[in-house]
Amino acid sequence: MSEEKKYFAVALDGPSGAGKSTIARNAAKELGFLYMDTGALYRSVAYSVWQKGIDPKDADAVAALLPELTITMNYDEEGLQRMYLNGTDVTQEIRLPEVSNYASQVSAIPAVRAFLLDMQRDLAARNSVIMDGRDIGTVILPNADVKIFLTASAEERAKRRYRDLKEQGTPKDYGVILVEIEERDYNDSHRAAAPLKRAEDAVTLDTSGLNFEEAKEKVLQIIKERLHL
Ligand code: C5P
Repeated sequence: MSEEKKYFAVALDGPSGAGKSTIARNAAKELGFLYMDTGALYRSVAYSVWQKGIDPKDADAVAALLPELTITMNYDEEGLQRMYLNGTDVTQEIRLPEVSNYASQVSAIPAVRAFLLDMQRDLAARNSVIMDGRDIGTVILPNADVKIFLTASAEERAKRRYRDLKEQGTPKDYGVILVEIEERDYNDSHRAAAPLKRAEDAVTLDTSGLNFEEAKEKVLQIIKERLHL
């Protein structure tokens, strides 16, 4: 008689720019878990909405587009999550600033969230995962073994984004970045469908003042303690 294999699920939620994706990807690598960036799913839908010239606030028009979309993903040799929209690799395109803005809007549409729900749950049913998002611990994986709410002040997140953009050779005004971050926070936490909210049983980790290594070590410590690894 074979015993059912137990997979571990770690839910890492929090606002944009708190460092979730880099920390989750690296922590997953150390633990041998699969990392899933769920924002990339919303971004893939958003990219299609943008490409087709659909108003991202028009819930009916966005919902009507969904049956035409096949979103798939895989991991390349470096372990990076690549996204495909109807077979086309859109990994780079979904990072465009316009797409970030559209993603924040289409993710408020319940039909979009329902469309992406199974994909997220299926992955967690077949692998040990660290999933980063906004509603992983509250809606997608309410029974996750570990829930972490990763946050940092809006100013700290804007500072990091400012530094990243400057390093990438595409600098942007700090004040503009801060306003955009505050707008996305507001949209994400005030929408009716699955708003960004700390799960009651989540551990909160504020990364303000921590560098990447320190934040990652804290996340790993929380996970290992909870999972007795
Ligand atoms: O994490 P990222 O910034 O790539 O996410 C893009 C957008 O997708 C966010 O603004 C957020 O509104 C939305 N999102 C979401 N639920 C998730 C992940 C992302 O609503 N689980």
